[in-house]
Amino acid sequence: MSELTDLYAQIANCQKCILAQGRAHTVPGEGSEDAEIMFIGEAPGYHENRLGRPFVGAAGKFLDQLLTSINMRREDVYICNVIKCRPPNNRDPLPNEISVCQPYLDRQIELIKPRLIVTLGRHSMARYFPKATISKIHGAQKRIGNVIVLPFFHPAAALHQPKYRALIEDDFLKIPRILAQASGLEEALPGQQAEQLSLF
Ligand code: URA
Repeated sequence: MSELTDLYAQIANCQKCILAQGRAHTVPGEGSEDAEIMFIGEAPGYHENRLGRPFVGAAGKFLDQLLTSINMRREDVYICNVIKCRPPNNRDPLPNEISVCQPYLDRQIELIKPRLIVTLGRHSMARYFPKATISKIHGAQKRIGNVIVLPFFHPAAALHQPKYRALIEDDFLKIPRILAQASGLEEALPGQQAEQLSLF
């Protein structure tokens, strides 16, 4: 059993918050264990809860199209969420749900060691940029340690409000160049220097 599948087993048994009671499946995440890009969404929805897989509903279909636009497939990347169980009626995750689930996401990042982390939506953005507004910083990369973090709108935003579609499509097209840059990064620099290299 890989350390990642071991982590999935821990998540499947998790009872740390109330969401455990209503779930059909936990949705730990999926994709390549060697992925250079990790996408972090918000929380499982109806279809994800039913199947135990991330981004398999309408937002997931759009995510698949966005990946195709940069010649990538789901198998090339790693996709997960801030929280691993579906909130009732798809409400926003509560702060305590995010904090008890955080060690699982921390461990996923430790094990996958992505070069580029793409946050999808406000909740995963807040992990790195707690005070930021997504409409101001979407598409602007920031180096944090030896990883580049790239905040994007959530793909579901395009389904609810078509004006976001082109923004998200354009942001996705930046990925190959930024990934090439991220892959060339040397080991993490101490905090001060890493901050100086940030790009916004
Ligand atoms: N939205 C998310 O944020 N994550 C999913 O897995 C599906 C929809």
